[in-house]
Formats: sequence, C-alpha cells, structure tokens
Amino acid sequence: MQISTTLTSSPTDDARLAEILANPGFGTNFTDHMFTVEWTPADGWHDARITPYGPITLDPAAAVLHYAQETFEGMKAYRHPDDSVWMFRPEANAERMVRSSHRLALPVLEVPDFVQAVSALVEVDARFVPANAEGGEKSLYVRPYMFASEKFLGVRPAEHVTFMVIASPAGAYFKGGAKPVNLWLTEEYTRAGRGGMGAAKTGGNYASSLVAQQEAYANGCDQVVFLDAQEGKYVEELGGMNMYFVFDDGSVVTPETGTILEGITRASIIELAGKMGHQVTERKLVIDEWREGVASGRITEIFACGTAAVVTPVGELRTKDGVSPAPASTKLTMKIRQALVDVQFGRAEDTFGWMRRI
Ligand code: PMP
Repeated sequence: MQISTTLTSSPTDDARLAEILANPGFGTNFTDHMFTVEWTPADGWHDARITPYGPITLDPAAAVLHYAQETFEGMKAYRHPDDSVWMFRPEANAERMVRSSHRLALPVLEVPDFVQAVSALVEVDARFVPANAEGGEKSLYVRPYMFASEKFLGVRPAEHVTFMVIASPAGAYFKGGAKPVNLWLTEEYTRAGRGGMGAAKTGGNYASSLVAQQEAYANGCDQVVFLDAQEGKYVEELGGMNMYFVFDDGSVVTPETGTILEGITRASIIELAGKMGHQVTERKLVIDEWREGVASGRITEIFACGTAAVVTPVGELRTKDGVSPAPASTKLTMKIRQALVDVQFGRAEDTFGWMRRI
C-alpha cells in the first residue's frame, strides 16, 4: 500500500507532550497524526494517507450514523528499555478485523495493509509512545476502525467505506498494582445470541452493553458479566474482557468461543498457561459452577483479561440475589499477568515471537 504523508505544521510541543506522557489517563489525548484509506467497489482500497489529526467531514446521511456498519480494533505500542518501539501481535488484530468485517458486510483490509497502516502511524508519532521507569506500564493505545461512509439511507452494505487509525497515550490501567475487581451479573441483558455479532468487534455490541454497565456501577461494581442469550446460564465474558477460571488441580478453564469476542490476550494466555504446565480447556462454564466452585474452594482464582488491563483478578460476584465472595487466591493470575507484561514491555525474552518492532 502506497501511503502519502503530510506532517502537521503545529506538532505538540515538548513541554505539553511531557505533561501528557506523565499522566496519560485513557483515550482523551491523541497523537499529532491519523491514518486514512478509502474503499469503493470500483477502486478497492485507495488514497492511503497520513495527515494531521483533526475532525473529519462526514455526510449527515453516512450509513454508519444510521445503521452502525462498522468494526474496530484495540492494540498497543510499547517502548522498550532500549528505546525501541514494539507492538504485540498486530497480525492477530488484523485477522480479527477481517473476521469482524465479514460479519458486518464490510470490505476486507488485507492483514499486511492493516499492519502497515498501524505501523506507519506509530512510526510517525513515535514520540507519543511513553517511556517507562522500572515496572511502569504506560503505552500508546492504537485504535484502527472501519466504517460505512457512503451517503445513502438504504439498508444495504455501503459502497464507500473508510478505514482510519488514531492513537492515544495510555497510563497504567491500575495505579498502584492490579487489585481484584468486583463484577455485576446481569440477568436482564445479554450481549450476543447464536448467529449474532458477539464475536465481532463492532460498536453495536458496546452500545448494547452500556445499560448493563450502568447497572454494574449502580451496584458498586466495575464491570458486568454477561451470560449466554439462549439458556441464560453459561458465563460468556465481561463488557470488555474475557474470563478465566483456575481450579484447585492447577487446570485452567476459559469459556469457549462462538458468541464471545476472541480476545488476543485470551488466546495468548492459552499458550502461556499451557507452557507453564497448566492444562487449559475451552468449554462452557455454568454460572452455578462459579458460585459453588468458589464456595467449595474448587475454583481458587478467577481473572479477566484484555488489552487495556492485561490481566485483572476478579473479586466478588454480585447479583440481585446476593454476593458470591472473592476466590481465595490471585497467585497464578499475577504470575500470568507479570509474564505477559514483561514480554510486552521488553523485560523478558519473547519466546513466543509475539512482538513486532516498529
Ligand atoms: N471481550 C470484549 C467484549 C472486548 O471488548 C475485549 C477488548 N478488545 C476483549 C474481550 C479482550 O480482547 P483483547 O484481549 O483482544 O483486548
């Protein structure tokens, strides 16, 4: 893909950048540039460009605003101790966007083009990738997304589609170390049914999760647990993270795929925990098995995982009928967390070959 680059005439000055990188927060400060490429049936992907970051012009009839035909990704760039910049498994995000695009009847952006686009933006805006003192976990969050930009109110796959990449410095998800999060079990709302969009990373799934998330906040919880839509008894995932259960015999279980988002962190942990000698099974897990397992001590740890927080121990499960206590341990959880973080931040050898240098 040929990319034209127009650099900004007013780059963020060093003092302001230092301020942002000292305290990045999440998703509010953006880098100086953005990547755009457009698609039509006649021309395919064309006009790939990096331009100064700024508002875009969208026709009020653009299909995405009406029918939500869009997909997105979330990934990070990490600065290693030698100052080099790396990404974690970008091809896996590219492949997931291809799968999401099929489900949303969007065109396919080939994996190498996706990786090139993301890499090009990170390279141009590399000064926004935070450095870390020993043990720090700041990174540059990268957001690729594709949307129906055609001016047309008919309901059919759009014939003008735009793919963009923006990026935003991100602080450590947990200040002062990972602490167990309490979860709210929603029994009223579901996020995905059979044949639905659960496995796709598309805005509609997140729009539909917000009311359940509100319920979670109202009940003093940080995140919401969704059950399957058909029988309402199998644990699926959280609003933005996958789940893992550790048993007292050392085995590890994660809900099987189909209606959940296939997390790249989840997939990496299947490999990592396996290499650590744990038996890892992808299977259905009934919500009662959670409650009874924690009560009996058969389930010793529960954790959630995703790009943003990497790995988070799960504390209490709260439901309208009462509270199930936190599992007894967080030992394997923290070991897996550290192993992943060390690879991402270049503090351990990348034995799986997951990192890509920018
Ligand atoms: N489930 C959902 C619904 C998510 O939004 C995310 C975040 N992308 C995940 C799981 C975790 O996926 P990943 O490990 O690729 O970030």
